[in-house]
Amino acid sequence: MIDIVYIEKEALNLPFTENTVKKLPGAAKVLIDRWEDVFYRKKQDYGLQKKNRKLIIGINRGSFVMEGSENCQSAGAEDFYYCSFAKNCIGGCDYCYLQGMMRSGYLLAFANMDDCFAEAEKVLDKGKKTLLAVSYDNDIYALDGLFGYVKMWSDFANRERRENLTVEVRTKCGTKAFIDRADSASGTLVFTWSVSSPENIKRFEPCTSPLAARLDAAEYALDKGFRVRLALDPVIAIGKGWKEGYEKLCDEIAGRGIGGRLDAVMLGGFRIPADYLKIMRRNAPESPIAFDSYEIKGGTACYPEEKEAQVTGFIGSILKDRAGVPQERLFMYGRER
Ligand code: SF4
Repeated sequence: MIDIVYIEKEALNLPFTENTVKKLPGAAKVLIDRWEDVFYRKKQDYGLQKKNRKLIIGINRGSFVMEGSENCQSAGAEDFYYCSFAKNCIGGCDYCYLQGMMRSGYLLAFANMDDCFAEAEKVLDKGKKTLLAVSYDNDIYALDGLFGYVKMWSDFANRERRENLTVEVRTKCGTKAFIDRADSASGTLVFTWSVSSPENIKRFEPCTSPLAARLDAAEYALDKGFRVRLALDPVIAIGKGWKEGYEKLCDEIAGRGIGGRLDAVMLGGFRIPADYLKIMRRNAPESPIAFDSYEIKGGTACYPEEKEAQVTGFIGSILKDRAGVPQERLFMYGRER
């Protein structure tokens, strides 16, 4: 429940702000000069702020579009960008990199989306096969009831209608209603459901939808004509039962008969920038994920090569053999670039 909305003065009369604030009638409104004054305040407690959510609405005067990290998969795209116009998430996943990256746990949403779309258009003018990920610092799908970003990106995709473009909305939310706000006509918008074993979801992703709801939504989107992807990424291979857990997940995908209809399936072991892992260990001294064994490669903490190969090899073969995911649509971290 959001009880305070901090609103940057310059954003106050923009349609995004008015629409969002209308949906929070019980929240106190506090006018601020700049969003940075609240978001980058010193001595903030990320964990506490995550439990006691406030919203900041601001104007982004810097870049919206950034080059995608080598740690993320681009599913065969030549160019990979991500677009950041909302920060922080209600998912509360134990392993989320945001807790190492963000100074504040408050939700931050930018209201000047026209500037964001203009910047994205410039990047796309290069004409290469491009992935534009639009939900990396926030699960915008899960918050679509508040912000309405999914419809905006659907409109962008339909305006652009470029064959070389994929606009990806990634989520762990199983609500189907948000799919109905989007339009599949361009073939450019892709919904990716991030999935894990039922045990991992229960244990490490406490504020997200159950597996069945996510797959129900994925099936619904397929039936509505959308390109749909699944991300078994990050795989959390912890404890003796991890293989059985992922077998259950793959069998659930197989049982629905959707393996051959998926646009892509991304697979990769847990990894995180080494600096963020240090913060994660400080903030969560009991976390089995934070204190698992990793090796540091190029500044990234990841599973040792042998374990990564075991994880992706094991799950990849079940996805192909039992769930019918074609080899060419299966993308494994570390083997793509
Ligand atoms: S859903 Fe994604 S962005 Fe949100 S908390 Fe979980 S890992 Fe982080």
